[in-house]
Amino acid sequence: MPIDSTFEENREKVDTHQGHDVWGPVEEPEQLGIHGTHVAVDFDICLADGACLEDCPVDVFEWVDTPGHPESEIKADPANEAQCIDCMLCVDVCPVDAIDVDAGRAGRT
Ligand code: SF4
Repeated sequence: MPIDSTFEENREKVDTHQGHDVWGPVEEPEQLGIHGTHVAVDFDICLADGACLEDCPVDVFEWVDTPGHPESEIKADPANEAQCIDCMLCVDVCPVDAIDVDAGRAGRT
């Protein structure tokens, strides 16, 4: 199942991590929620393919360790989401549709 692009309406903001929001539910280590708002990565879908890290022209993503998560023990964290230029490459290359990018969303939160 792809990331829910309407997560703003369907989830609660429960935390911040490295300067970006985390949208719950979060139940570590098995359930990690969605990281980011402008560039949102569903950590519970991400399987650490790495295409987004390789392809993002402005290095928005960084690996973060998530030991004990059933899908993968590292995740592509949108650590530098403010740098995003909305090229949509990451959305296109993610094999599991874990990423949603919407510049307008950042201003609404
Ligand atoms: S939309 Fe483009 S610039 Fe923004 S995070 Fe994805 S690959 Fe990087």
